[in-house]
Amino acid sequence: MSDILATQGLRRSFVQGEDTIEVLRGVDLHVAPGEIVALLGPSGSGKSTLLQAVGLLEGGFEGSIRIKGQEAARLDADGRTTLRRDALGFVYQFHHLLPDFDATENVVLPQLIHGAETADAQVRAKSLLSSLGLGHRLTHRPSQLSGGEQQRVAVARALANRPALVLADEPTGNLDEATADIVFSEFLALVRGEGSAALVATHNERLAARMDRVVRLHDGVLE
Ligand code: ADP
Ligand code: MG
Repeated sequence: MSDILATQGLRRSFVQGEDTIEVLRGVDLHVAPGEIVALLGPSGSGKSTLLQAVGLLEGGFEGSIRIKGQEAARLDADGRTTLRRDALGFVYQFHHLLPDFDATENVVLPQLIHGAETADAQVRAKSLLSSLGLGHRLTHRPSQLSGGEQQRVAVARALANRPALVLADEPTGNLDEATADIVFSEFLALVRGEGSAALVATHNERLAARMDRVVRLHDGVLE
């Protein structure tokens, strides 16, 4: 089957004062359907920059990004938004949940934006949250949840619309080690169970070893 994600010659540089730093210098990356890929690299190596480009969250890059066979550069802003909503889910280091909405609502809302019926979206949200052990936290707001619980809600939200590809940027990087291990295991199990592919940025070798494949970002290219 063809790749969910394929980048070719992906380049991104930033101007900092008088200098131009080349962060991505020709990244070729392929992710197959259902494959869970670890993106390893030290802090500052460009992992977040790569995920931002692949997530169609900002322009400014050169080279090719194909998601489900669609070339991002050929899409206008509306087309990129549609592709992002249809194909991608995001998990960040910090949860970015909506503070005035409870756990269920945080998982329901992206489904409504995607065109789901409210009743169906609620069933899906409760099912995802329950499978992450949050069946007793459905009506809690983010401020009433622990850090690990907040990240679990963020994971449920990312998977709500059944994305073909989940982009996760240090998804457990804000948690203590023991909690990170548990939440990461649950994240992997859920992504596998849903059949989504994932690209997971981390600087944690141990977590990376638990994924299907590891790619390393070094000097702006994948080793
Ligand atoms: P990582 O996620 O691997 O820690 P980043 O992608 O955040 O690395 O950053 C890679 C490099 O790009 C760093 O040197 C960082 O300072 C630089 N960088 C990232 N975003 C910007 C930006 N918006 N403007 C200028 N420099 C940036
Ligand atoms: Mg980063």
